[in-house]
Amino acid sequence: MRLSRSIVGEAEARAASRVILEDGYLGMGNEVRLFEEELARYLGVEPWQVITANTGTAALHLALDAAAASSSARSSVVGGRPEVLVPSLTFVASFQAVVAAGCTPVPCDVLPETGTLDLADAAKRLTPRTIAVMPVHYASNPWQLDAVYAFANERGLRVVEDAAHAFGCKHRGRRIGSFGDLVCFSFDGIKNITCGEGGCLVAFDAASAQLAADARLLSVRGDTGQRFSGGRSWDPDVTRQGWRYHMSNIMAAIGRVQLGRLEGEFLPARRVLAAVYEKRLANLAGLALLRTDPQDFVVRHIMPVRVAGGRKDALKEALNAQGIPTGVHYKPNHLLSFFGGGAQHLPATEQLYAELLTLPLHPGLTIADVESVCQVITSFFDGCAS
Ligand SMILES: *Cc1c(COP(=O)(O)O)cnc(C)c1O
Repeated sequence: MRLSRSIVGEAEARAASRVILEDGYLGMGNEVRLFEEELARYLGVEPWQVITANTGTAALHLALDAAAASSSARSSVVGGRPEVLVPSLTFVASFQAVVAAGCTPVPCDVLPETGTLDLADAAKRLTPRTIAVMPVHYASNPWQLDAVYAFANERGLRVVEDAAHAFGCKHRGRRIGSFGDLVCFSFDGIKNITCGEGGCLVAFDAASAQLAADARLLSVRGDTGQRFSGGRSWDPDVTRQGWRYHMSNIMAAIGRVQLGRLEGEFLPARRVLAAVYEKRLANLAGLALLRTDPQDFVVRHIMPVRVAGGRKDALKEALNAQGIPTGVHYKPNHLLSFFGGGAQHLPATEQLYAELLTLPLHPGLTIADVESVCQVITSFFDGCAS
């Protein structure tokens, strides 16, 4: 059994080989244009709003770069590096993207019942340099996203959603990426859909979209349009920093197949397996599931649970002994050397970290696989009780 895996097969292989054998161009061209159009249709936005990138981290960097650019007038008045409020419990990609964009990540505490940003804690960390808030949809949970937007709007902050876990999810009936400010997805090898590696951002204002579309191609002005029509900019102008962050035709071809499998295959499989976990583990003393809003549509990318009473390591060993792998999502970023090495204390995050254990979840598992994991867990707690 594996904790997670890429679910790819003949169709993805055929799509990649079609590009290799028939297209004549492996870089960013027509396939990427089609993928962006199909993503836009799926999300219910315009094609100009979707900007693909070679990783989700690159998409976050581009989004934060656009947010910082729009806020630069304000932050130059107060001086110092712009600050971004971000929950500490996230993949280090979120923090590195903030640093890459020339900003300082300000680690915030999370809510113990969901692992998502604690807005009350974030409010305490506001300074005149704060330019953005970056909610992370931890374990695909867009918990209180409306409240995050209200918080940002009241204070004139940009919102950069780290929606790496949340492709295909909905907040109160609206699909993540169909509304908001700057929304970033990851299509890395194990996310809800994959391009091998890859990601995209969705922008809701033309200035940010244009800036990000250019910045992913070294900020060569208008190069996206050139490449989509099979050309290049031979007389370029460049007015600001940019990066080589664009997606290739091979990645896009794989992503197009994956997007086509999402609603019929990946979403229902993840939902069914997560529901089995939720049903079997609901009433175990000693273990708690993360909370979700019944009004949200959550498609779990990972299946973290909380193990109380200092028994997490023992449960992990019991599972591993049966050939069941487990993970930890995540070591909080404020404990990492580069981000303060624990100089700051975030009590709820640290308490949750001590309890978090991630169980196997991917569409390659069967219901029987998940039942067998739950059986080991149930026996473990039965043994503890006796
Ligand atoms: C996967 C992930 C990213 C980064 O995406 P990549 O495509 O792997 O670069 C960012 N944030 C979170 C929470 C993630 O899980």
